[in-house]
Amino acid sequence: MTDSAYIPASGLTGKLKRLKARFLECDPLHFAPDQLVVSITFDDFPKSAFDVGKSGLEKRGWRGTWYASAGFAGTDTHHGPMFDADHLRQLEDSGHEIACHTLNHTDLGQASDEVACAQIAANYEALVDLGLKSGLPAFAYPYGEASPASKRVLATRFETLRGVRPGINRKGDDRNLLKAVGIDGGEAGLARAHAFIDEGMARPGWLIFYTHDIQPSPTEWGCTPDEFSGLLDHIQASGAKVLPVTQAYRWLTAS
Ligand SMILES: [Zn+2]
Repeated sequence: MTDSAYIPASGLTGKLKRLKARFLECDPLHFAPDQLVVSITFDDFPKSAFDVGKSGLEKRGWRGTWYASAGFAGTDTHHGPMFDADHLRQLEDSGHEIACHTLNHTDLGQASDEVACAQIAANYEALVDLGLKSGLPAFAYPYGEASPASKRVLATRFETLRGVRPGINRKGDDRNLLKAVGIDGGEAGLARAHAFIDEGMARPGWLIFYTHDIQPSPTEWGCTPDEFSGLLDHIQASGAKVLPVTQAYRWLTAS
């Protein structure tokens, strides 16, 4: 979220557009893992997510994926202070994955192909200017908003495209709009996140989590440090294989 004032199009038109984005330009997944695979991801991303998330993952031997919008670097948003060049460097040096989220957190459900391509290229260049070393193989749609055209264009540039529709990714689901479960929404949202771990243990697949700020009084798109570590404890107890998004995708598609 770039700004709490921006709400993607709703109503019937928005719903129809979202359905078209969901059912057109799909690239079905073929994997059927016999164990739960989990990826933990951070969107935008706030400094508080770095402070809590990096160490929380690393003390369990895990690494995460950080979907960065370079336009946020060094700024303050409603999520609080955002990442900067030093955070990027520390994450890459520790084996985390930096991923793409457009330069300006653009709603690609509304944008033209040209704008989508320009946002992707400009984000990459800006992140390289901040010290990025990787090639950004993964992408997440800001607000989870896609269009058939943006899926078609981005699918040629990225290995995976992630949305925010909750669920576990299994055979037949869409590489061009991967499901992901928010670690957010207070008690009810966290209960749902925990329930997906149990579902994934009963019926394996690829479960991608995402969150934003991690602080004692989080926004509705974030969580508290205790909620975050409680979820990591549950993932650890589940015995799931935990990998950053691109490593998980490559492992799943190779096995
Ligand atoms: Zn975002």
